Amino acid sequence: MDFLGKIYERFIRPFALAGGLIAYVVFTWALQQNGFIRATEDVYLQIVAMWSIGFVALAIIPNTRLGLDTNVTVLIRTMWCNIGVVVMAVLVPDVVRIFMLVVTLFGLMYASLHLNRGHVAVMGFLTYLFYVLCSAGLASYTETDPEFEFFLGLGFGFILAGGSILIFEGQELRAELRHRNEALRETMGRLQEMALRDELTGVHNRRYILDVLNRQKSLADREQQGFTVCYCDLDHFKQVNDQFGHVTGDKALRQFAELATGVVRNIDYVARFGGEEFVLVLVGADEVAAENVANRLRVRTSEMWIPGTRDDFVLNVSIGVTSFRSGERVEDALNRADRALYSAKIGGRDRVVVADG
Ligand code: GH3
Ligand code: MG
Ligand code: MG
Repeated sequence: MDFLGKIYERFIRPFALAGGLIAYVVFTWALQQNGFIRATEDVYLQIVAMWSIGFVALAIIPNTRLGLDTNVTVLIRTMWCNIGVVVMAVLVPDVVRIFMLVVTLFGLMYASLHLNRGHVAVMGFLTYLFYVLCSAGLASYTETDPEFEFFLGLGFGFILAGGSILIFEGQELRAELRHRNEALRETMGRLQEMALRDELTGVHNRRYILDVLNRQKSLADREQQGFTVCYCDLDHFKQVNDQFGHVTGDKALRQFAELATGVVRNIDYVARFGGEEFVLVLVGADEVAAENVANRLRVRTSEMWIPGTRDDFVLNVSIGVTSFRSGERVEDALNRADRALYSAKIGGRDRVVVADG
């Protein structure tokens, strides 16, 4: 919640609630004292006291304490407000009644922010029903003009119906906005994920693995957890493209990425570092363990059949392995792995070399 949101929640909201209650009491009290209320002071006070106690209780008791669903709480709160307004509306002079009845629309608007269309419609209907009952009660209590009561009831019905339609429109707009927001959030998530992955192979990309390496370096520098880097480069890959075409070359890259992902544990990382070069980051593994993993990957690569190549075609990989040394830069470790890889190439390819020194 932002700063203004907090200010609203802490100060303005309680103030508005208390203000609304005070305005209601003062206004109706003034009408009562001036003889405009169709009830004795005792009856008036009983109604107002009962309603106010309910109002305060509903306002200050948190939803969780009531043990009710938020929707039900909103329903009860709104109905309570509308009941208070309607009861007073039938007791005040006829001219004021119309204004007071319109206030029930505020209740419906508040409800529409939290509840669905059906609930709001039910609440509108209940408010109207309650008004009709109060109006009938008034007729039995004191002398009223039936024609006036009828047309006022009809008018109030129209106001409620018209107001409800507007409220539904607002709800529709809000729902659409929420829907679009969700779609946007989903797209953002997908874009973020795409920004971290290599498009061709689906493994992580260079940017992501450099982030990972820097994070792992922080852990290793604090001697919490070391890691080992395997720098892989496919052998004579140019020839794959030259002999079988780029599409087959791409397929080989994808297959190798999949193989590498299958060889490491799920806490490790596989990334395409560029072209036909891949980097594995083996978390918490020493050079011996990493060398084993690298050799397994090397053997499986040579066993891999790539559709689009010849039956006797064998793809090989050379791998340089080194462990991160506490305090050094990430580039230092990568350069060392790259030098080991170079030794593997010089030594005849299809091999794993662990960096020395
Ligand atoms: P070496 O054993 O010394 O590594 O030889 P090499 O042919 O693998 O090395 P070189 O660096 O000469 O060639 C790398 C080749 O990788 C060249 C390029 O066409 C190919 N390559 C790089 N990226 C892609 C790609 O995204 N798709 C395909 N199909 N080929 C790629
Ligand atoms: Mg290369
Ligand atoms: Mg190569």
